[in-house]
Amino acid sequence: MDERNNGNISNSCFVNMGTHYLVIDSGPTYQYAKQSYDAMKKIKNLPIKYVINTHVHDDHWLGNSFYVELGVTIIGSKVFQDEVVLDETRMQKRITSEAYEKTTQEFPSVYVDKNMFLTIDSKRVDLIGVNNKAHTKGDLLVYIPQEKMMFVGDLVFNDRLPSIRDGDLQGWLVALDKIRSIDLDYIIGGHGKVVDKSSINMTYDYIKTLKQRVKLLIDEGEDIADVVNMVKMEKYKNINFYDSMHRQNVEIAYRMLEWESE
Ligand SMILES: [Zn+2]
Repeated sequence: MDERNNGNISNSCFVNMGTHYLVIDSGPTYQYAKQSYDAMKKIKNLPIKYVINTHVHDDHWLGNSFYVELGVTIIGSKVFQDEVVLDETRMQKRITSEAYEKTTQEFPSVYVDKNMFLTIDSKRVDLIGVNNKAHTKGDLLVYIPQEKMMFVGDLVFNDRLPSIRDGDLQGWLVALDKIRSIDLDYIIGGHGKVVDKSSINMTYDYIKTLKQRVKLLIDEGEDIADVVNMVKMEKYKNINFYDSMHRQNVEIAYRMLEWESE
């Protein structure tokens, strides 16, 4: 997020349920949310039934401020209960003040603890809480069985390396394995344009390889500085953010796994 993209870095999804839209992740700002809904209304002018927030990273939910103004109910991961209103958000620090205009920190008014089952326009929508730390300590999946479609938030990145800072490698793999065991035609992640079920592969393989390589070197007694230099995973070097994020991911993985192996 910076002054060039003004926070337009994540996926905000509108699902045409028949006579309503279901919105999954409201995006980074009030302005972004308003502009995206205006664009969707030109495709089909439908009211919005609910907005779902998959997790607490601010590129995915600051757009709530626009939907609250429309009177739409926002449903989110239970972790929002622990969030506090900040003097200044990470988004606010990095984008222009014009782009941030009218954006306020509006948390969901309904929290999902484990699961919640909705019916929208006679279609079933299952909200599934990931009950272990994965991308964050509270990720929410949105499953529409009739469409074999699942929105998985930042459990899936497919155009850039995932950031593992707030997550847990093992928990992330467990969650992805569960998603893979479901018969799905569409897996829609929080970042990237691939939306068929192959969208999961890059994140899955990256996390799995990272975990295996780092764990092996810890078991062989290598120290953190050497491991950061040894685990290059060059297969991913052409993926966005490899240069700025991969070494950091190795370091974070080392600290996570070192703790685990004690
Ligand atoms: Zn995230």
